[in-house]
Amino acid sequence: MTDSPKITKLSETISVFPQIHTEDIPSSASSRYNIVVVGGGSAGIATAASMLKRNRNISLAIVDPSDNHYYQPGWTMVGGGIFSPEVTRRKEKDLIPHGALWIQSSVSSFNPESNSILTSDGQEITYDVLIVCPGIKLNWSAIDGLPEALGKNGVTSNYSYDFAPYTCRLVNEMTSGRALFTQPPMPIKCAGAPQKAMYLSCTKWERAGVLNNIDVQFHNNGAVLFGVSEYMPALMQYIERYNAHLNFTSNLVAVDGERKVATFEQKDGDSTKRVEVEFDMIHVVPPQSAPDFVSTSPLAAENGFVDVDPATLQHVKYENIFSLGDACSAPNAKTMAAVRKQAPIVAVNALAALEGKSPVADYDGYGSCPLTVERGKVVLAEFGYGGKLLPSFPTWLIDGTKPSRLSWLLKDTILPPVYWHGMLKGREWMVKPHLIGAD
Ligand code: FAD
Repeated sequence: MTDSPKITKLSETISVFPQIHTEDIPSSASSRYNIVVVGGGSAGIATAASMLKRNRNISLAIVDPSDNHYYQPGWTMVGGGIFSPEVTRRKEKDLIPHGALWIQSSVSSFNPESNSILTSDGQEITYDVLIVCPGIKLNWSAIDGLPEALGKNGVTSNYSYDFAPYTCRLVNEMTSGRALFTQPPMPIKCAGAPQKAMYLSCTKWERAGVLNNIDVQFHNNGAVLFGVSEYMPALMQYIERYNAHLNFTSNLVAVDGERKVATFEQKDGDSTKRVEVEFDMIHVVPPQSAPDFVSTSPLAAENGFVDVDPATLQHVKYENIFSLGDACSAPNAKTMAAVRKQAPIVAVNALAALEGKSPVADYDGYGSCPLTVERGKVVLAEFGYGGKLLPSFPTWLIDGTKPSRLSWLLKDTILPPVYWHGMLKGREWMVKPHLIGAD
């Protein structure tokens, strides 16, 4: 162990890992594994658990610096005052699957030619197969003044564990004035989350009888409210009901918290103009991009994300590298629902690669976005590549294009335990990997 003092959780892992005991581990064993997973978020833990369910004899390490693991889909509900923040956070150490080793460190670079990665504290870790899933980077500072403004003067965001509760407080306290909700350029994780924040705020103001006193504005850098047209009629009903004003190609570029002024760049024919809008409250979604250590690496596609085949999630150049979740280049909606489907596929494909075989399973681009249009009702958008609708339930049970109480029950009550006790434990409920050529 002389060369790897940074493997801080080894003793804890060993206590639950019958095949390995401290005294059995040679000094060099700490840095070479059959499988190395970069990122122990939704994708990393789920994939590791799925792999270990299939083969407990592999050596598998998960590299992630974070003490905590977050159920981020719950943050919309925290902002809406439905969940407490604490239910969305668990200790990473408690989620590491039995049989996996957690290396609590941050990966800084990839060297695919020598099958190794380097961590920021200087560890070199080598692998037979690498799985890359460090999520997406939130660029808070890409909006002038935002980092300083957040958390006070009416400036908030559900995209942060720390600030989502402030959304709830602001909405509870607001009885009149102007509320702005913003959506940055794509890609972002959960493209529906910016408008979910607006609907859950409006439903509260409606119940409190103050909605008519509030000027609600949605400012979207894009040109449409939602990318899949089948869901638009239901969403537009709520836009009208809440009298929310939609502004397209309107991109937030600066926030002045003290003056309570937001600056937008708006398309005006061929030119752009800057428009200042005063607010009493603003919910900001930060611009997002591939993490720097990914976008500057040999693994990156042109857009900076890990360059994978959209069906097999195998790297287009390196056959022993796979990627999934928000960090991969596949053109699906970046959601936890997508990860649920991708993790078993990557698990079987990576195990095949470990045996020198080709991928055996493929992914249809499934992603889902439960749009919380009012308290108690959700429009459950489920779709795959090319916007093809991929409903999980028969229409008589849940028609995803209509607001539904049952879909709310899914979001509110069923999905969180499915996440913690199913997906992160490698239980592949309703997401068995589809084998290539099976139908
Ligand atoms: P993450 O879960 O973000 O995990 C990335 C991990 O990588 C983290 O643990 C991080 O510590 C680690 N990491 C980062 N850098 C490094 C490094 N250098 N080295 C090693 N490890 C590193 N999805 C839905 O399906 N439905 C929803 O309703 C929904 N709502 C959402 C609402 C909000 C407000 C947000 C923010 C997200 C929402 N999502 C939703 C999206 C969902 O949370 C993500 O798509 C999902 O978490 C992606 O999983 P991931 O593993 O790729 O990334």
